[in-house]
Amino acid sequence: MKERWREIATGIGAGAVAFVLLRLPVSQWLPLAVLAGLLFYLFRGGLLPGVGRGAVAQAVQGTGVTFDDIGGQATAKQELKEALEFLRRPDEAARFGIRPIRGILLAGPPGTGKTLLAKAAATYTDSAFLATSGSAFVEVYAGVGAQRVREAFAEARRLARRLGKQSAILFIDEIEVLAGKRGRHTSHLEYDQTLNQLLVEMDGISTDDDVRILVMAATNRPDLIDEALLRPGRFDRIVRVELPDLAAREQVLRIHMRGKPLADDVDLGQIAQETFGFSGAHLESVCNEAAILAMRASAPAITMEHLREAIEKVMMGERLDRRPSEEERRRIAVHECGHALVAEILRPGSVASVTIASRGEALGYVRHRPEEDRFLQTQDQIEDMICIALAGSQAERLLLGRPSTGAQSDFQQAAQLARRMVEDGMTSLGVVARETVPPATLHRAVTRILRRQERRARALLGEFSDGLEVAARALLERERLTSAEFRRLVGLPPLSGPAGRTAEGRPAAERDR
Ligand code: ATP
Repeated sequence: MKERWREIATGIGAGAVAFVLLRLPVSQWLPLAVLAGLLFYLFRGGLLPGVGRGAVAQAVQGTGVTFDDIGGQATAKQELKEALEFLRRPDEAARFGIRPIRGILLAGPPGTGKTLLAKAAATYTDSAFLATSGSAFVEVYAGVGAQRVREAFAEARRLARRLGKQSAILFIDEIEVLAGKRGRHTSHLEYDQTLNQLLVEMDGISTDDDVRILVMAATNRPDLIDEALLRPGRFDRIVRVELPDLAAREQVLRIHMRGKPLADDVDLGQIAQETFGFSGAHLESVCNEAAILAMRASAPAITMEHLREAIEKVMMGERLDRRPSEEERRRIAVHECGHALVAEILRPGSVASVTIASRGEALGYVRHRPEEDRFLQTQDQIEDMICIALAGSQAERLLLGRPSTGAQSDFQQAAQLARRMVEDGMTSLGVVARETVPPATLHRAVTRILRRQERRARALLGEFSDGLEVAARALLERERLTSAEFRRLVGLPPLSGPAGRTAEGRPAAERDR
């Protein structure tokens, strides 16, 4: 819409200028028009590419990144190395008549190291490296995007020649912006021209070129990319880059802790367990934040405490100054201890820490050590999760008599899980087609599940009500309790090993069940 208005405004402006010029003698307006035309040409990337908008692509002199600097991603690295062989051994590739790989698409969630992999590929193949982003090619004026694509390829060749390299890697981040499915955009003529130009440039890459170009592109949304780009001969390889698993998280942490002073108590394996679902970028941020906390506290080295605080900061946001009243703090402490107690009873060792410091939206929270690499959930597990979610408000009822409004998101979460149970055929309704279940029947089934788990949570909390009181008081004083401290305070037996968990990060008790 905005673009259309811009076009209309440009048209009116041009009309007005033409009207004024026609009324002036040629000798007065011609020099001005020539000057304006020249400036327009320069700024739109004709003679001085990228002037006015920042360069289309950025040359990186020796990325300095190697595959060893990237934690995990073993499969992605392996696939990449295989695909890059033709750049490392061009003569052999030519002897076998191998068609060059023109493009490699790295697909995966944000912050998982796609840019790092492309940089490492440049080091591995001794190529020049030029980085750009899909959005650098986007313009409303027809033809400009296509011109920028041509320019980026030409620049990659120039850079390689200047650096005396035989190959160049052109890295395009967020390729979906430039290579989305054709016809989806409002100004689709321009998008289509830009994408077509990319296809033309890629089709033009051949083994006879003095500089072999490899396009590496990254995306978080491979589903949005036009099929024309994915057909063989263009982006020949799609390399999946996944969130790191337990071992990979530990590797990433080790990489980013290199050269930082670490206290003796630091166990990076333990931190890896507590950071399920974190990307490489999150983990880098945890290491950095922990170092900042240690420096601010004038500590001689980074401790486990700094790392745990950093995880919470990365997960939940900055600690807020917002300080609830004493009465509210006591309620929050009781509520959080309720969640933590039922979690520790049902899944021993699953609580990483309990906190009542305000961060982001939360007034307090229990940080769980999530299950590692679990793709399916059993009925027992879902029921346990509902019971844990409802335990906060049940603890308030038990120790303070009345519940509060602080449990809204717990109820939403519990109701969502209960609906899931109905839809997955885990209730007396049996297997159901989601859309044919009458709302009243769904409501009854969900309510039955929630009531049952509420009763269960109340019974579990009742058995440990004295411990719950003690833990809530300690939490009020200290603001944060670790899993071991919490177990001791509520009167649960200590767990053997690091938080009683197996190497795969699953609670020992659950594995034995
Ligand atoms: P986006 O999709 O958002 O562009 P990306 O996948 O390209 O992200 P990078 O830019 O490569 O991610 O990573 C960001 C930062 O995160 C890196 O500079 C690095 O510090 C850290 N990082 C990410 N993944 C890893 C990893 N596997 N090993 C070490 N560090 C990593």
